[in-house]
Amino acid sequence: MPVVHEQNGLHAAVRDAKSPAGGGRPAEVAPAANFVRAIIAEDNHTGKYGGRVVTRFPPEPNGYLHYGHAKSIILNFGLAAENHGTCHLRFDDTNPLKEDVEFEDAIAASVRWLGFDWGEHRYHASDYYDALYRYAEWFIEQGLAYVDSQTPEEMRATRGTLTEPGIESPHRARSVAENLDLFRRMRAGEFPDGAHVLRLKIDMASANLNLRDPAIYRIRHARHHRTGDKWCIYPLYDYTHCISDALERITHSICTLEFQDHRPLYDWVIEQLAAGGQLLRPLPQQVEFARLNLTYVVLSKRKLIELVEGGHVDGWDDPRMPTLVGARRRGFTPEGFQLFAERIGVSKSDSWIDMSVLEDAMRDDLNARAQRRVAVLDPVKLVIDNYPADTVETMHPPNHPQHPEWGRRPLAFGRELWIERDDFAETPPKGFFRLTPGAEVRLRYAYIVRCTGVEKDADGRVSVVHCTYDPATRSGTAGADARKVKGNIHWLAVGDAVQAEVRLYDRLFRVPFPGARNTRSVKDETAGAADPLPLHAHLLAGDDDEVADAAERSYLDDLNPASKRVITAYVEPALATAPAEERVQFERHGYFVADLIDHAPGRPVFNRAVTLKDSWK
Ligand code: ATP
Ligand code: MG
Repeated sequence: MPVVHEQNGLHAAVRDAKSPAGGGRPAEVAPAANFVRAIIAEDNHTGKYGGRVVTRFPPEPNGYLHYGHAKSIILNFGLAAENHGTCHLRFDDTNPLKEDVEFEDAIAASVRWLGFDWGEHRYHASDYYDALYRYAEWFIEQGLAYVDSQTPEEMRATRGTLTEPGIESPHRARSVAENLDLFRRMRAGEFPDGAHVLRLKIDMASANLNLRDPAIYRIRHARHHRTGDKWCIYPLYDYTHCISDALERITHSICTLEFQDHRPLYDWVIEQLAAGGQLLRPLPQQVEFARLNLTYVVLSKRKLIELVEGGHVDGWDDPRMPTLVGARRRGFTPEGFQLFAERIGVSKSDSWIDMSVLEDAMRDDLNARAQRRVAVLDPVKLVIDNYPADTVETMHPPNHPQHPEWGRRPLAFGRELWIERDDFAETPPKGFFRLTPGAEVRLRYAYIVRCTGVEKDADGRVSVVHCTYDPATRSGTAGADARKVKGNIHWLAVGDAVQAEVRLYDRLFRVPFPGARNTRSVKDETAGAADPLPLHAHLLAGDDDEVADAAERSYLDDLNPASKRVITAYVEPALATAPAEERVQFERHGYFVADLIDHAPGRPVFNRAVTLKDSWK
């Protein structure tokens, strides 16, 4: 599978569309053509659904949403919105053992955070348990379902293979009366878990294994988080999903590619019911798209749970986690996800998207919306020896270079400043244009200074850099630009700077395919056209769980040990009072966000969302 680094043609267009100065507005992206949009346009054209467009996002409430879900949410809600339709939020809560209300609330909050609203259309698959049960009896009465009492092993053994047909169950010929009686007693709780299942009677010789008499009900003596102890039999996914869609009058049921083989079953179930007058036409249609596979992370719930429970991260909302709650704390934006989704598009075949595509989308969005601030992350003191000790001037840096209307803010300037340690070099490497003995540099928004010497501590480390300034070069005054200097560095006045905790986050994994046996670089991977045996061809199914199972190594071996570094930095006073979740650019460093949870007035905490440039390329 190819790895996409650069976005499709659309992305190039977006980049070009930005002004050479870097733009200032979010890159507006016109909706690109894709095959799902084409299907909907065609259905609108033919009047198949009378112009209605109803989609749904159907999460299982057994964990937090991840970046992959964002693709599905944006697709489903986006398609509904652009067609003046509706998108339902439906909790697919058919597994009583794994689900929880806590997850439902978090999921709903994440969908809302992404900017979507389901209105009154918040549903649960469990809302339909009564209807699903009635339909099951109807299938039995039609001779289209039977109670099978084989053991799970026997059922597995008689299912056949891709090349051999299955073997019909000895219970397949049970009478309607016997089936109804057994099914009602299953419901009444007369049998233990696993004693019987209800199966559809379709075709044990079908080339499609999903049509070989699929089980639709199983016995589970388990309490459900919404229906309590009302049921001890629960309907299975394939049976529940299509009927839920039909009952909600969904038009386009959009799901990931692994359900393609299930589509004949989806259609079979609702066709039978509609033909029998049990469901209204037109029936929903299932449309499959390629799931999001992203490098440098894992997007399987099982692995995300392991990361949290194993203490490898600081929780579900750790900014390094590929969850939407994590993305929010990271400082990522809903608009950045939209931009990302448009750039990667929607396709019918699986591919890997490189993490840099997501980071670029966030960077572009943050560039447009984040005000500029100054922070010195690794400070060393700069003393301007010819600057009066008792003087403080106020400089006025712009809040955004492309938005003069966003104004300026005061920033104190004085004799003693903090600058970045690496903006000074005693013996400069070639091409170093910042501070070095004898050289000149501009302190941005202030003066040109010339470095005159350094002081060192007992270990020989530079502790103070000395310089002199030229009073005639103050930025914004006449003639200030008469003298050109190459370097331009940021600073904070020692008496004005405020200490802040800054969390420097980086990618959670240090390799593109965590846990893959051979962790070649993404570059090798994209060169795959010439590669007769692409390493990750076995991932075509889209389930990255397979990698871990096939590999001797664990994805945990590939965690990036430097994915989080906590430092104490100096920030300008305006940041100390920033509201939580305010996103800013630390000039020359990157985009940062005031932490949602830990940031407080007097105790500023900032998280790095992304650096200014991609340091992984
Ligand atoms: P996981 O594989 O992480 O456990 P899931 O498919 O079990 O995810 P659900 O809650 O069942 O999670 O998914 C809800 C919806 O989100 C489904 O329609 C599913 O197709 C979609 N979805 C899940 N993962 C992705 C992904 N990586 N890319 C696009 N859509 C996804
Ligand atoms: Mg699922």
